[in-house]
Amino acid sequence: MPTVKAYAAPSATGELISTTIERRDVGPHDVLIDIKFAGICHSDIHTVRGDWGPQQYPLAPGHEIAGIVSEVGSDVTRHKVGDRVGVGCMVNSCGECANCDAGEEQYCLKGNTGTYGAMDRDGTITQGGYSSHVVVTENFVVNIPDALELDVAAPLLCAGITTFSPLHHWGAGPGKNVAVVGLGGLGHMAVKIAHAMGATVTVLSQSLKKQEDGLRLGADHYYATSDQNTFTDLAGSFDLIINTVSAVIDINAFLQLLKLDGALVSVGAPAEPLPVQAFSLIGARRTFAGSSIGGIKETQEMLDFCAEHGIGAEIEVIPASKINDAYERVLASDVRYRFVIDTATL
Ligand code: NAP
Ligand code: ZN
Repeated sequence: MPTVKAYAAPSATGELISTTIERRDVGPHDVLIDIKFAGICHSDIHTVRGDWGPQQYPLAPGHEIAGIVSEVGSDVTRHKVGDRVGVGCMVNSCGECANCDAGEEQYCLKGNTGTYGAMDRDGTITQGGYSSHVVVTENFVVNIPDALELDVAAPLLCAGITTFSPLHHWGAGPGKNVAVVGLGGLGHMAVKIAHAMGATVTVLSQSLKKQEDGLRLGADHYYATSDQNTFTDLAGSFDLIINTVSAVIDINAFLQLLKLDGALVSVGAPAEPLPVQAFSLIGARRTFAGSSIGGIKETQEMLDFCAEHGIGAEIEVIPASKINDAYERVLASDVRYRFVIDTATL
């Protein structure tokens, strides 16, 4: 079993530290990836801090992985040495249930295997992308098109697919009014992708301090949710609202912004409940929904879509020694718009 460099959390409260972790030997269907960049997702912070439940430590997070294939198993057909590839939030699923059959492995009826902090097939706990190398079964490895640099592609593996999937599913496109709540890692990808799909895009941010950026990224309109006039001015305006906020927000206030038959889709995953009044839905046949990342086929479609439209993430590349500072800045909504770790600095 190869031992590789990583950054890992020693506990729910301790800072991440430089360490080593074990990777499994490359099996017949496995791909060994030399990781070049790993994005920092707010889910990494929720997970290592135990927001979503207890974890086993040390835990190396990271599910926005971009790198180069450096070895393939004897039966691998989808990838070869030298390929530019990505790995997102899951590294396996049962492959047999109705949802896996439908290409929706993220909704595997037996539970998908998360890229970190999950029980792997061999009974070990998976370790994520804040690391120099990872071994992944070939079906969960996607190709990064040549038109995308690896650093700006890394965040697409979670932030990109998590916003692309509901935008696509709920029909964002020409003639549709789409609002994005929260302009962070997921939010800025939602703006870029919804704009490229042809929708009219409005950002609903806590303040106007990122307005210039939002409009540059592709938003048509930008409002501050700290201003109560926003909720009266925009009442009944949107076909689709994508909520990317990592904390609890007043969902009922946002539901009032939907048109008849509009949908509010929460991809943000705070630890606490998001209470909904029945009348917020009944009043205009509205839907309150959730969405989890996207399937592997859809992830490849998203990468191809982004390459075609020249869409990468807006990133701040950091050395591994700055991971803990980056966590604090993400928690303070001080990110423009994704931190990406240069794994050469591990
Ligand atoms: P992020 O970069 O921290 O962005 C979240 C944004 O939410 C912030 O930039 C901020 O935007 C806004 N926000 C933060 N705290 C707020 C508060 N108290 N009230 C109102 N707005 C607030 O996080 P991210 O990486 O995009 O992740 C966002 C959420 O999605 C997290 O909960 C993460 O776990 C979840 N997630 C879900 C999936 C999925 O499959 N469903 C996948 C990945 C991530 P403004 O400054 O513009 O207001
Ligand atoms: Zn993520």
